[in-house]
Amino acid sequence: MHDFHPMAHRLGAVTTPPHNSAPGVEQYDVIIIGAGAAGIMCAIEAGRRGRRVLVLEHANKAGKKILISGGGRCNFTNVYATPDSYQSQNKSFCVSALTRYTSQDFIALVEKRRIAYHEKKLGQLFCNGSAKEIVRLLLDEAEAANATIRLECEVTSIRRADGFLIGTDMGSVAAGSLVVATGGLSIPQMGATGFAYAVAQQFGLNVVPTRPGLVPLTTGGQALAFCRRLAGVSIPCIASCGGASFTENLLFTHKGISGPAILQVSSYWQQGEQVHIDLLPGLDLLNHLKEQQAARPRAELQTILSALLPKSFVEAMCETFLPNRAMAQLSFKDISAVADTLKDWSIPLNGTEGYRTAEVTVGGVDTRGLSSKTMEALEVSGLFFIGEAVDVTGPLGGHNFQWAWASGYCAGQCV
Ligand SMILES: Cc1cc2nc3c(=O)[nH]c(=O)nc-3n(C[C@H](O)[C@H](O)[C@H](O)COP(=O)(O)OP(=O)(O)OC[C@H]3O[C@@H](n4cnc5c(N)ncnc54)[C@H](O)[C@@H]3O)c2cc1C
Repeated sequence: MHDFHPMAHRLGAVTTPPHNSAPGVEQYDVIIIGAGAAGIMCAIEAGRRGRRVLVLEHANKAGKKILISGGGRCNFTNVYATPDSYQSQNKSFCVSALTRYTSQDFIALVEKRRIAYHEKKLGQLFCNGSAKEIVRLLLDEAEAANATIRLECEVTSIRRADGFLIGTDMGSVAAGSLVVATGGLSIPQMGATGFAYAVAQQFGLNVVPTRPGLVPLTTGGQALAFCRRLAGVSIPCIASCGGASFTENLLFTHKGISGPAILQVSSYWQQGEQVHIDLLPGLDLLNHLKEQQAARPRAELQTILSALLPKSFVEAMCETFLPNRAMAQLSFKDISAVADTLKDWSIPLNGTEGYRTAEVTVGGVDTRGLSSKTMEALEVSGLFFIGEAVDVTGPLGGHNFQWAWASGYCAGQCV
């Protein structure tokens, strides 16, 4: 038997809560902590199976992250979501859940509710109207499944005894199954906490070190001045780091670089590494410059490059890094250096914008301690971890919600 008090630092001395059968302890079959995407999906599925479900949420609203997702339109899934798009120390873990609950399953739910949606690009599905429609869908389905969601409720202790006894600031509750669906560390100002990791560690599960993912990257010194000058300029590119490459746009910001290509690659970036950026994907730049040298010998390099890249970027590059002379005055070595610079461009990076702006948390509860079919802890029967709390991270574009739905669904089938 174990006592678990993830909030013990706030409680001071930890007292032993009453036994499950003590008077005043509400009994459920399943208690889910966290009313986000994964938690509500799990509540729906467990409730549909006739289980008595209670969801405990410390915020004043359920699904807050859903509401701000996709710029308020919620990119709720991706039609190309396949297990190999996901990052994890245990790559094959997500296969079972993503195969059992696919993007088509969630689309069927959206269509059943007649929520209008569209594909923006690359299989990314967004609501035509508002993310509120997805939250409404989930809450209605949860209600239809008789699941109870208790808001503004703080969990103060967790104890294992014939199931789980949960102490909260609204009294004690008990259940045979406990599902931890409290998400990751991204956007702490919206209620994100390291609660799931604390529970995992207290129960002897390993936690893969976490870091912000899908997050803008920052720079300093001269490179920062360069980025600030170009803030708002966007360039299609291929950004590569840590064995992953993404063909999307790069965006200069007042702190460094962002845009979908950089957000994607940031999940693979670690301190001290470089991001390699091909600013002219699909173009043999060396050959192009040689042709232009022959065809337009008097044109300046800046003029030639401005036909390919934003003028302000070319101007800034030519002031500092590139030889802005007439094409005829450039040697083969000069031209090769220009091609190398633009085809494999990088700036010194000193960090990320952190959890404050990160869309996801990379790392989390180590999936090697969980069943890939049910999300149940292998060594602690009745304890489940789902959603972003676990070490499964998708790329941008609806993949992270798909993981939340799929892992929530699978746990919901057996809690
Ligand atoms: C700005 C932004 C935009 C995004 N857009 C998209 C998108 O368009 N498409 C996409 O696929 N993904 C998107 N994501 C990622 C996506 O939101 C997450 O991957 C997803 O919400 C994870 O679901 P979850 O249920 O695991 O966690 P969450 O949705 O974070 O839910 C966790 C819940 O647990 C609650 N909680 C935390 N600690 C406690 C505690 N101690 N006690 C009780 N409750 C607690 C939280 O308040 C929250 O309600 C976006 C993320 C951000 C930050």
